[in-house]
Amino acid sequence: MPYRADITIIGAGVVGLGIAAQVASEGREVYVLEKNETFGQEISSRQSGVIHAGIYYPESSLKAKMCVAGNHILYELCEKYGIGHRRLGKLIVATSDAEAGELQTLLERGQRNGVEGLRILSKWEMQELEPNIEGVAAMLSPSTGVIDSHALMKHFIVKAQDGGVRIAFQTKVVEIEKVADEYKVTVEDGRGKFSFTTRIVINCAGLYCDKVAELAGIDIAKAGYKLHYCKGEYFSVGSGKNTLVKRLVFPVPPPKATGVGIHVAFDLDGRMRLGPSTHYVDSIDYAVDNQHKRLFYDSVRRFLPFIEYDDLEPEMAGIRPKLQEPGGDVKDFVIRDETDNGLPGFINLIGIESPGLTASPAIAEHVGSLVGDLLGK
Ligand SMILES: Cc1cc2nc3c(=O)[nH]c(=O)nc-3n(C[C@H](O)[C@H](O)[C@H](O)COP(=O)(O)OP(=O)(O)OC[C@H]3O[C@@H](n4cnc5c(N)ncnc54)[C@H](O)[C@@H]3O)c2cc1C
Repeated sequence: MPYRADITIIGAGVVGLGIAAQVASEGREVYVLEKNETFGQEISSRQSGVIHAGIYYPESSLKAKMCVAGNHILYELCEKYGIGHRRLGKLIVATSDAEAGELQTLLERGQRNGVEGLRILSKWEMQELEPNIEGVAAMLSPSTGVIDSHALMKHFIVKAQDGGVRIAFQTKVVEIEKVADEYKVTVEDGRGKFSFTTRIVINCAGLYCDKVAELAGIDIAKAGYKLHYCKGEYFSVGSGKNTLVKRLVFPVPPPKATGVGIHVAFDLDGRMRLGPSTHYVDSIDYAVDNQHKRLFYDSVRRFLPFIEYDDLEPEMAGIRPKLQEPGGDVKDFVIRDETDNGLPGFINLIGIESPGLTASPAIAEHVGSLVGDLLGK
């Protein structure tokens, strides 16, 4: 570890690593600090792997802008660097006339957000594409796909390291203190505590980003940065039923939804899973409760009539870092330099839930320009 760094990034998930790849530059001392043994052990490896199109998010929100931009950048990266992906396309399926009305709202929002190729399908057109799906109408999103998130993170690491970035694993940030126009950062590794100074801190600590902001002296209640954990479980679908649909299949999300609804996702090998559910929890625990199987079955059988109760097996769970309180309004990503909180050069990324994987390269470009402004280049 150095005694002085230019940029210190806290967290080696997809967001921190994307930023590291972006800000790497000759002559800059850039460090990524990660408390775990390796990269991507938390939110970034416990998610659906969907390259979202950008349909759901309010117009002009960071979520909408970064998702639409990130979708394009991700496909370019995947094609250029051979990162595993499949542009499967997705259907949002309406199972009632009221939901069919909602499709039009989603279509218009998606188009305002800049999503290309969206189209409403009649029941007949939908069943031409996917004969095993039940519903009254659907919306087709051709630019939705899936990506190998591990390979994406590896790509960011290679690019960052080629640009001189150093990554320290098993190194937990435990104190941050503003000293003159820099920050004194104290870390704990296997050997004890160690401090160094840095001009810029970028907080990409995922589920712990509110606690890291607090370390720097930010009143997170006042700033509205307190996170709420929202668990999402997945059940895998066996019995060879993965061949019965070709596209990702989503329900119409209810208003004020905490997620996009339990949907059909595929990994790159074509294995089918259902999820993620949404329930707020007080602590981080990745167990899947088999008692929730009924909820999964009931949620999807409206549009996937071929699924039988016994096809479902508990698979895995992830936790969303939500700014949205239970029952509260949807919240946008927070990505900001904290100059007006008295912390110039302290960049917070808070509440980077879905579509954070899709948005990661666009978030990286955005943070790269904040860093450029701070460093005057
Ligand atoms: C159930 C679920 C499904 C999702 N599905 C999708 C999807 O299909 N498509 C999509 O685009 N997005 C999806 N997302 C969102 C996406 O996965 C996240 O937005 C993204 O992975 C967040 O990455 P991150 O780097 O911010 O967090 P993380 O991957 O959690 O990385 C943060 C890192 O910070 C480290 N850290 C924390 N505190 C410290 C400290 N004090 N010192 C050092 N290191 C520290 C942690 O150990 C961790 O490795 C989903 C999320 C969930 C939970």
